[in-house]
Amino acid sequence: MATFSQSTMAKGSDSVIDFCCSPCLEHKTDQWAEFYCENCLKFYCANCINLHGQLFGKHVTYGRRETKKWPVPKEVEDFLQKCDLHEEKRSELFCYDHSQLCCTDCSFLNHRQCVKVTLISESVNGPPPDLQRLSRKIQTILVELQRLTINWDTNMQSLQVSYNEELHELRQTRKKINTLFDEIEKNTLKELDDKMTRLKASLNNDMENCNKLKNELNRLSNAIENIIDKGKAELIFIASKKCLQKIKESETYLNENSVQVERILAFQANSDVQQYLSKLSNLGRFVVCTQSVPVQGDPCELLTVHGMSKCFTTLNPVTRAYLYFKISRNGGGTL
Ligand SMILES: [Zn+2]
Ligand SMILES: [Zn+2]
Ligand SMILES: [Zn+2]
Ligand SMILES: [Zn+2]
Repeated sequence: MATFSQSTMAKGSDSVIDFCCSPCLEHKTDQWAEFYCENCLKFYCANCINLHGQLFGKHVTYGRRETKKWPVPKEVEDFLQKCDLHEEKRSELFCYDHSQLCCTDCSFLNHRQCVKVTLISESVNGPPPDLQRLSRKIQTILVELQRLTINWDTNMQSLQVSYNEELHELRQTRKKINTLFDEIEKNTLKELDDKMTRLKASLNNDMENCNKLKNELNRLSNAIENIIDKGKAELIFIASKKCLQKIKESETYLNENSVQVERILAFQANSDVQQYLSKLSNLGRFVVCTQSVPVQGDPCELLTVHGMSKCFTTLNPVTRAYLYFKISRNGGGTL
């Protein structure tokens, strides 16, 4: 029948099947049908129905309000009749043993042993099934599935939120470790500076003592030059005693410093730190926390029932699984 080929999927929809105006379609124009003529077995748009009315005044037509009297779209018929297992075949049989629709292939392959396999055309006697009830049931399931879809979507967002949070936490941990190392470096540097100050002071002291001795010996030497051959017996006596005293003092000093002790600084790195760090492969672990929450029900209720403040203050209450990063700050020893 020509009418069936005129049905088509409505634009922007994957489920609604609608009919196009037959004459418009012949002129390669897509125009939704507003009427169906059961005499012509054709569809007409608002324009074409006028012309049709002038030509065929006695034809019976049905508008949009009476689509129940329109034919079943071919797509719908094909979709329903197609065998679920064999794309090219139509379901023509019903197996009561398996409570299954089957095409000839199905019945040949899977239902040869079955006791009651009948032609569908022979099974349709009796009261028609309550399609309205089934339709309502499907709608209810669709609502549940939609809720589930929303939940997945929400979970995706919570997952992203938790990722961002834990990334921040990771960076903070790194910063804390940096601060700790800064502090350790500062302490080590202070120790170096303290040592340097002490060593410099000690060297300066040695230098001063040496210079003092040199000055005293120089003054004595000059004094002796001034009194030699001047017949001053008392001064000569005193000078000789002072000279002997200073010479003895100087010899002791030279003796004590006969080996020059050179002082330099050397850094011995704490190898424990490097060894520990080289053994680490990460700064912490990521744990996937999962939480079962019923799909139905009021999300606010879930919030109180589970009371996981960390999850629920920042994350959506319908969180199922979210990435959770735990820094094992004390795991495996301390730095
Ligand atoms: Zn038309
Ligand atoms: Zn007509
Ligand atoms: Zn089949
Ligand atoms: Zn069967």
